[in-house]
Amino acid sequence: MLSSGRFDPVRFLEKLDAKVYGIDLHWLVHAQGALKVASIVKRKHPNSIVMLGGLTASYYWREILENYSYVDVVMLGDTTEAPVEKLIENIGDESSFREIPNLAWRNDGRILFNGFAYVPEEFSHLINPRILVSNAIKTRDIFMTVPYYGFVKKPIVAILTVKGCLYNCVTCGGSCYTYQKYYGRTKPAFKKPEIVKAEVEELSGIIDAPIFVVGDLTMAGSKYASDLLKALGGLGLENEIFFEVYRPVNREILRFMRRVSDKVYLQISPESPYEDVRSAFGRNYDNSTLEKMISSALDVGLERLDLYFMTGLPKQTYRKAVGVAKY
Ligand code: SF4
Repeated sequence: MLSSGRFDPVRFLEKLDAKVYGIDLHWLVHAQGALKVASIVKRKHPNSIVMLGGLTASYYWREILENYSYVDVVMLGDTTEAPVEKLIENIGDESSFREIPNLAWRNDGRILFNGFAYVPEEFSHLINPRILVSNAIKTRDIFMTVPYYGFVKKPIVAILTVKGCLYNCVTCGGSCYTYQKYYGRTKPAFKKPEIVKAEVEELSGIIDAPIFVVGDLTMAGSKYASDLLKALGGLGLENEIFFEVYRPVNREILRFMRRVSDKVYLQISPESPYEDVRSAFGRNYDNSTLEKMISSALDVGLERLDLYFMTGLPKQTYRKAVGVAKY
């Protein structure tokens, strides 16, 4: 859509032929777009099922089904491949919808939710990045296949390592509390190191773009993190690699990160240089721990360290908001 002024989204959606149309409503910022697409799809394909999924859809499932009649079902939770498969197998037999885990749906005007019966404790599903290539061949349109506008010129790819989080940052829709209360997940599911390694290896074999390893590996313990980093270090990667951590990590972990590639970038979000503001936001570490990590990161030779700060935080006065620049 962004790469061609002639692209007609309504016509494109009209030409798609499916029994179920799954629309991603993961990030709240996409609420308007997801609902607009859903309304167009329902208008053009009134006999098909329009389904929303993603964390935002999982949080607002009742409001969506109460207020937007063009959405037929919402698939809740962070892992929905198997329930969606079951839904597809049972199209045409609405009486069986009661058996589909994680499904919210309408039945004779009533809104029902079947409950979270599918929240896998393991996150071991290998995502084969070659699917991007096969989709491009299938659609014969590289721009319909890439994940975002500008990807061809400036690509970056991501590997998910975890579903869930150990922490409770107050604004986060993916916190430990939110996962427990709204997505049925009582503890994070970490992807097995050998699967992360296989995905990184596969990706690096087909694209030389930077690879973002999403999720703080140390949440699964320092053994998990160091085993995985050692395994990645053995791949001889030439890609730039991004890691993120949610709390400062020790020098040993930084050293293992450094060995993964010649260009390793690390990201951390202290949010504020003021410890009381940071703590009120839900990040409980002090500046000396943070600064120790910064100097270790420079010492071990990480190529870049990105620090993220925010404004509009609890306890953040005007003085403390503008104080970020000075820090
Ligand atoms: S560490 Fe990240 S994912 Fe976890 S609660 Fe905080 S912002 Fe959310």
